[in-house]
Amino acid sequence: MATFRQMALNESALHKTERFYVENRPVSEYFGENVLDLDKMRGYMSQQAYEAVLASVKFGAKLDRSVSNEIASGMKAWAMEKGATHYTHLFQPLTDSTAEKHEAFVTFKDGKAFEKFNGSALVQQEPDASSFPNGGLRNTFEARGYSAWDPSSPVFLMDGTLCIPSVFVSYTGEALDTKVPHLKSMHAISEAAVSVANLFDESVKAVKVNLGLEQEYFLVDESLYNARPDLMLSGRTVVGHTSAKDQQLEDHYFGAIPSRVSSFMKDFETEAYKLGILLQTRHNEVAPNQFECAPVFCDATKAIDQNMMLMIVMQKVAEKHHLKVIFHEKPFDGVNGSGKHCNWSIMTDTGVNLLSPGKTPTKNLQFLSFYASVLRAVHKHHYLLMTSVATLGNSYRLGGNEAPPAVASVFSGSTLYGIFRSIMELGDARMTASSQESIKIVNAIPEIFPDNTDRNRTSPFAFTGNRFEFRAVGSSQNVASAVYVVNSIVAESLKDFRHEVDVLEAAGEDRSSAIMAVVRKFITEAKDIMFEGNGYSKEWEIESQARGLRAVRNVPESYEVYHEAQTIELFDKLGVLAPNEVEARFEILNEIYVKKLQIEARILGDICLNHVIPAAVRYQNVLIENVKGIKDIFGDDYMNFCSSEIDTLKKISFHMNNLSADVVRLVDARKKANRIEGIGERAKTYSHEVKDMMDKVRYSADHLEMIIDDEMWPLPKYRELLFF
Ligand code: ADP
Ligand code: MG
Repeated sequence: MATFRQMALNESALHKTERFYVENRPVSEYFGENVLDLDKMRGYMSQQAYEAVLASVKFGAKLDRSVSNEIASGMKAWAMEKGATHYTHLFQPLTDSTAEKHEAFVTFKDGKAFEKFNGSALVQQEPDASSFPNGGLRNTFEARGYSAWDPSSPVFLMDGTLCIPSVFVSYTGEALDTKVPHLKSMHAISEAAVSVANLFDESVKAVKVNLGLEQEYFLVDESLYNARPDLMLSGRTVVGHTSAKDQQLEDHYFGAIPSRVSSFMKDFETEAYKLGILLQTRHNEVAPNQFECAPVFCDATKAIDQNMMLMIVMQKVAEKHHLKVIFHEKPFDGVNGSGKHCNWSIMTDTGVNLLSPGKTPTKNLQFLSFYASVLRAVHKHHYLLMTSVATLGNSYRLGGNEAPPAVASVFSGSTLYGIFRSIMELGDARMTASSQESIKIVNAIPEIFPDNTDRNRTSPFAFTGNRFEFRAVGSSQNVASAVYVVNSIVAESLKDFRHEVDVLEAAGEDRSSAIMAVVRKFITEAKDIMFEGNGYSKEWEIESQARGLRAVRNVPESYEVYHEAQTIELFDKLGVLAPNEVEARFEILNEIYVKKLQIEARILGDICLNHVIPAAVRYQNVLIENVKGIKDIFGDDYMNFCSSEIDTLKKISFHMNNLSADVVRLVDARKKANRIEGIGERAKTYSHEVKDMMDKVRYSADHLEMIIDDEMWPLPKYRELLFF
């Protein structure tokens, strides 16, 4: 009898390289054609309605009911011209995915069908909040939650559906998604950055965050994927022995892209272009069958929305190619995991990148002010920052020797680091005459040229010339939850920066030396977060501990940072999250951790009982028959002829016994953990006891995979999953 694996392998061999979304037009002709941007809107509504949308996008003005009907019917007209039949509010609940509930335009009246979409349907929908993580903010008996159109993101068309980017809040107005705190953090950082930028240029009125998100992912053939219940249900393999060859030859990174993959890439890029996503790079990644794509950076809100859309588009296009996109952070043990590098920078409405070193002393002073504030922010909240990327999936990746370590540090590059050291070595400017000195330092570096080749790929938060690259973010994450933390901590430091400069100025210090004094104070305060060496090394692990930097060694334990006064105060004073919203997030994060681990533990148990052990028994029987046969022929002498079979039989029995017993222990560990009151404590027990048992179970299962006859092994092996 053929195993499921053999059938899957046969089927996968039939999957050919093909293109499904071919456009014979230049990209510029169809770029953004599925997005109703402001420009296009003009053609579908009156000037009055258009101006109302514009005011809402630019200044957050509330939309009047009278115009919202007109806007809605304009949108409907545009969408129907393009064949749409449905609309949906698309929001970003705390599950790292997007949620959508489609409603048909068509309704019936007096037996006649007609299309309807009015202002109230555009502005607000009422999905059941109890079906999404709400961390106790909603009681199920009054589970009303509202999704509301966020006019700052344009509506778009996907799969015949008009998608309306929305926020998701509870009946009483608390955030139930990642977008609300993100938008609030954008406001907070703009306000704080403007106050510092105004020290140099009074005309700056707003500052926005730019983001460029590099998306890493794996591709697996669909038939093989379907033969792996673990990949299907948890996004990662919970068993599987490493392939004899994986990434050790370092021949995949930047290598030629396999033709089946390149067709897939071209297809999803075509669809992404239509959605206005400016994808710029594509290449192989380090692990076999691992790839990356990156768009050109843009406004953070748009970048986040587009990344969520991109992940959906990639999945949809992959179906045509009989491929599955794996966004999980660590789908395969032993090879590189996937991240989503967040390239983060801030820019004024006058077009100045505040993290770009300047050509003149004043520009440099401005650059140093912003840089010092980021350093100080990352130092002060380093544990919160790393907790913002702490998920079950990412915990399998971070801290391994191929991924950013679990402790934060900032890499600046030798040029900048040298400058910071000389600034720090000046001593306290206000106590001595050295404030003049410090100005001299700035004057002495009329132009800072950070060396762009001076890159450190082992730092979780690295400066790359004109932006910071937060490299520890997980590939499946909605990066909003990491970005609103970055925005908030930097906003806080910028506010403090301005305040301290004001105090010094009020005491009679001239502006430049006041600024320089605060730059030095912040850099000195944050010096422990600066690290220029190898972040993957053992030395750094020891050194970072000696410096008092806290590493995220355990995910649920890190969530306790949401109970720390410093965190609660940070979000509260900036208006990003109220204390009860922070508490809700603590609950939700723990809940998600437990549920995901629960699923993984169950699948692991099932796979062992239903796949691994039966295969082991079958092979054992073959060997037993074999030994019996040899005994029939050779009688008492048989041991001279089958010692290796006997040896193998012993090994199989050994691992099988361990495996059966450990699966039982795993179930017990789960049951015990489930009885623990308090989601935080339950999650911690899961993270230790359940996870430890899972490792033991996997150890035996992976050993059996190595021993059992290849033909009998039921699950596609790593070497089959990882190479096209
Ligand atoms: P690398 O792999 O060398 O980091 P990539 O080209 O893959 O480079 O990705 C770099 C990302 O950083 C791109 O999305 C790019 O648009 C983005 N980026 C470039 N400049 C900035 C900036 N000033 N602010 C934010 N993102 C930026
Ligand atoms: Mg990068």
